Amino acid sequence: MKKIYKTKQVKVKNTLIGGDAPVTIQSMTNTHTRNYEATIEQVRRLEAVGCDIVRLAVVDLDEVKVACRIAKEVAVPLVADIQYDYKLAVASADGGMAKIRINPGNLGGADKLREVSTACKRNGVPIRVGVNAGSLEKGISTAGGIAKALAYSGLRNLKLLEDCGFDDLVVSVKASSAKVTVGAYRMLAKKCDYPLHIGITESGVGLSGIIKSSVGLGALLLDGLGDTVRVSLSGDPVDEIDIARRLLRASGRDTNFCEVISCPTCGRCSFDVAGLAEKVETRTRNIKAPLKIAVMGCVVNGVGEGKHADLGIAGGKDKAVIFYKGEVIKTVEMENAEEEFFKFVEASLRI
Ligand code: SF4
Repeated sequence: MKKIYKTKQVKVKNTLIGGDAPVTIQSMTNTHTRNYEATIEQVRRLEAVGCDIVRLAVVDLDEVKVACRIAKEVAVPLVADIQYDYKLAVASADGGMAKIRINPGNLGGADKLREVSTACKRNGVPIRVGVNAGSLEKGISTAGGIAKALAYSGLRNLKLLEDCGFDDLVVSVKASSAKVTVGAYRMLAKKCDYPLHIGITESGVGLSGIIKSSVGLGALLLDGLGDTVRVSLSGDPVDEIDIARRLLRASGRDTNFCEVISCPTCGRCSFDVAGLAEKVETRTRNIKAPLKIAVMGCVVNGVGEGKHADLGIAGGKDKAVIFYKGEVIKTVEMENAEEEFFKFVEASLRI
């Protein structure tokens, strides 16, 4: 899917956010950053599962030092998350962090913000303006709704940095409500062309958090909004990466993968569709190619219903048929179906 809103492009170490770059996936460590061993171990685990950018909270200068040390020891770009102390932002930019995340209005005034922007400029470090519904600055009117207030706050905070002559920016306007978040980003996207970091903050735990994130991020991604994404769940941040990846694929923002579709089954089905579909998905998980595969529960309807797939298998009690774009190309014994089918999957990938 093409993006509707064209955004500027920002470089975070060697990773691009915005413009025509693919949507990046990011997460945040939940260790105490001063604990070097625990933090670098989590950063490395996130990197290993494909996290593109990792954010670390830094609460004092000791933590900035640890974060900057880790930044030199890993390939993945690291972001320093700073709440109030501008000195931490300056030290992070000077110390080798690839990006910083601040809320400019919270740093104590224009002079301090200018010091931060100067440090970021001299080091080629972009800034994410991160606004959250839970910490909207005093004086922002919520009479028009929280979404409007969030968008307004985002623009106002971006302007504070623009007034310092700084425009190497990414922006986020998150709320814990999917509806509020979607409304805020839609308004913001009409008013600025900075790359959008999208996420539903404090979305919750387990399945509830996944569903809430999927509703909110799904709506934005389908709109063509979002240049970098974080799924915020309580728990191990490593779990967020696979969910974010699946969201990008389900929304059509990542098409370079092997998509497995399977029928819901009904009374015509006489084999374990879910089991075979899971095996196919497991075996094709790391394939980087746009291939759609159908696993269907009966020969009678499966071939027709799966004809929009590139390749498919429709099973029965004893026999299965393998089909290519709706045409049956081979009939096989059910017990050999998986292995036979994979010969065709592999052949399709070589074409
Ligand atoms: Fe039922 Fe066959 Fe359709 Fe699956 S493909 S839902 S088994 S009719």
